[in-house]
Amino acid sequence: LKSNQIFDIKKIEAVITGLLPELIAFRRELHGEPEIAWEEHKTTSKIENFLKNHGLQRIAFPLKTGLVAEMVRDRNIPYLGLRAEIDALPIPDEKKVDYRSVYPGMCHACGHDIHTTVVCGVAAALQVLDVELPLNLRFLFQPAEEPIPSGAPRMIEKGVLDNLNELWAMHVDPNLPFGTLSLTEGWVNAQSIRLNWEIAGRGGHSAQPELSNNPIPVCARLIQDIQRMVTDFNGIPEDIKILAFTRIFSSDTSYNTIPDNVRMTATLRVNKEELGQQMISRVQQICAENEKKESVKIKFTFIAGAPPVVNDLHLIRRFKSNLQRTLPGHFRVVENIRSRGGDDFGWYMKSVSGVLIRFGIARDKNQPLLHTTRFDVPEEIISKAILFFIIQILNWNDA
Ligand SMILES: [Zn+2]
Ligand SMILES: [Zn+2]
Repeated sequence: LKSNQIFDIKKIEAVITGLLPELIAFRRELHGEPEIAWEEHKTTSKIENFLKNHGLQRIAFPLKTGLVAEMVRDRNIPYLGLRAEIDALPIPDEKKVDYRSVYPGMCHACGHDIHTTVVCGVAAALQVLDVELPLNLRFLFQPAEEPIPSGAPRMIEKGVLDNLNELWAMHVDPNLPFGTLSLTEGWVNAQSIRLNWEIAGRGGHSAQPELSNNPIPVCARLIQDIQRMVTDFNGIPEDIKILAFTRIFSSDTSYNTIPDNVRMTATLRVNKEELGQQMISRVQQICAENEKKESVKIKFTFIAGAPPVVNDLHLIRRFKSNLQRTLPGHFRVVENIRSRGGDDFGWYMKSVSGVLIRFGIARDKNQPLLHTTRFDVPEEIISKAILFFIIQILNWNDA
């Protein structure tokens, strides 16, 4: 087969079908022994063994868990990356299936076992097909997608994006019916920013408030000022800016004591990094104003999560046209699916064009959601997703 040939879809499907029993067993092995962020040691060796059994030689271990494998045809042609996250979550698995987690309190509740299996399946199927690829391929098996700080920036530091032209990723989506595929241009995951305040006043007896400086009313004003600023913030109507105050603690537990200080947290979600930065500096101003006006000390800190995931529109359009031409009717394509949740795939998008696409997995209305204890994925998605990626790889062009 040559890269400019019309590929025989039936042949590709037959290869995937041939690999399927092994892929399903592999997925169930990952699912049964889920490992959380930075502890994915067994998972890493399972992936390594799978890839080596399928003839992949070029394997590197840039971090203590996770790995990178390559299929290189010619160093002068473009490199495409496919990224799968490999970590599970520290939540119990309450499913009844026989492949459920054997580790108490750990569960593959975000579908990363499926993503890993799909990327392994793409590599294995391409090895069997033995075609002349239009690209070199780099498979990134990234640890620790879930925590902040997460694995993507560490992988990038180790050079996994070097001379990479594009990077693709998938996520299963239980909010979409099975067979749906989200090919959305522009942002698809928001950035989440954790905000923390500590307001230090002066405590005292609640019978003599004039002798103290109560931080609680200051906290209340701060909440109102910040909420109003975010609501009124000038922006483009399509932009999102979602602020939620989530916790307030006072330093004292007694009902008749004015506390010395109050701590509070919030999350801010935005679809553009600049928007988040602008609002953070407004929050800093508001804190400074209130500090002066109320004679308190306000310590404001924030932790920015992964940047938003922004899909490259040319890649999305190429995906759509390849799909229409080669697999018409195979998926129901939707174009406007965006999540206010984050994905650390956003870190890669700062320096390489890429896409994160979502595969619908809901069989019915009772489909458990991501990060819940009964979450599971219909395994039929494995072959559908592998076929999708192989079609896109074989029909790759840089137009
Ligand atoms: Zn997750
Ligand atoms: Zn996830």
